Amino acid sequence: MAKVYGTIIIGSGPSGYTAAIYAARSNMSVLVLQGYQTGGQLMQTSEVENYPGFEDGVMGPEMMEKFEKQAQRFGAELVPEDAIKIDTSAKPFTVTTDSAEYQGHTIIIATGASAQWLGLPNEQRLQGRGVSACATCDGFFFRGKDVVVVGGGDTALEEATFLTRYANHVTLVHRRDSFRASKIMQDRARNNPKISIVLESEVADVLGEEEVTGVRLRNVRTGEESTLDAHGLFIAIGHKPNTEIFKGLVQMDAQGYIDPVEYTMTNIPGIFAAGDVTDHRYRQAVTAAADGCRAAIDVERWLENQGIHVGIENWE
Ligand code: NAP
Repeated sequence: MAKVYGTIIIGSGPSGYTAAIYAARSNMSVLVLQGYQTGGQLMQTSEVENYPGFEDGVMGPEMMEKFEKQAQRFGAELVPEDAIKIDTSAKPFTVTTDSAEYQGHTIIIATGASAQWLGLPNEQRLQGRGVSACATCDGFFFRGKDVVVVGGGDTALEEATFLTRYANHVTLVHRRDSFRASKIMQDRARNNPKISIVLESEVADVLGEEEVTGVRLRNVRTGEESTLDAHGLFIAIGHKPNTEIFKGLVQMDAQGYIDPVEYTMTNIPGIFAAGDVTDHRYRQAVTAAADGCRAAIDVERWLENQGIHVGIENWE
């Protein structure tokens, strides 16, 4: 009998692995196409202190290793390759990677989103050493320190305000002379004595050997450069959902985030989506994990309603 998985999960962040744990534990045959970069955004994070159950905190990569092992423990098969094509023209669905084709009765899209980075010469090297794209995740590490936030949208203004809970001072740097953020966010930031605003400027580079010690600013009108001492650089210039290969297949919003139509199911019956790929609001490991659980439960119920048996015992 040909191998047809109960579900093929695409993505290996908290939502993908949690979906795998729930689905595999319900005795469903599960394949996780982890992607070439396994583990998702948490692989670029240092310490995670707000994920319940890790009272002393845990390093992002270590946490994802635990998620992975837990999924394996219940029998999920893991393949560290990207899905490159999805064929929904016939049932079961076919998902293609660089080296194989897999068939599944359902698919859970859990490909996440990626923070946009500035592309500075030293940005990547100092990620997790003062450069971050998530104030909620990392703000706590900057108690009493000076930090810089880049961006002019709601996220940047919200993160700048949030960071004043910890930081000594926050400098908000934006490339234009006006913000696109909502007025209420702007008012909040402008009225906060711990925030100073530098407009019409960009961060030309982030400085530091072992950790961030400052940024080099450039005025975009005059070209004049200056150095600002800081221990943190928070980049808040938007996120991009990883949905390129699903364009034209499932319903998305204008930004490319997948729009589930019935709980976690997309407009294509049998295709589900979970985690940051559907969420530009919360973007937390714990919310993504919870969403993966919801998707797995929705998959189980949907398969049951369709009368499709997905246990592994019928395979040769
Ligand atoms: P966004 O609205 O797209 O804003 C991105 C900001 O980053 C813009 O100000 C943009 O500058 C700047 N930027 C982009 N590329 C840049 C670059 N290479 N160098 C320097 N600056 C750059 O993204 P967002 O703030 O993440 O918000 C995304 C969505 O979520 C929005 O719809 C927002 O309203 C929503 N949101 C809502 C809340 C809330 O209601 N509480 C909170 C957060 C986010 P320009 O302005 O010059 O283009």
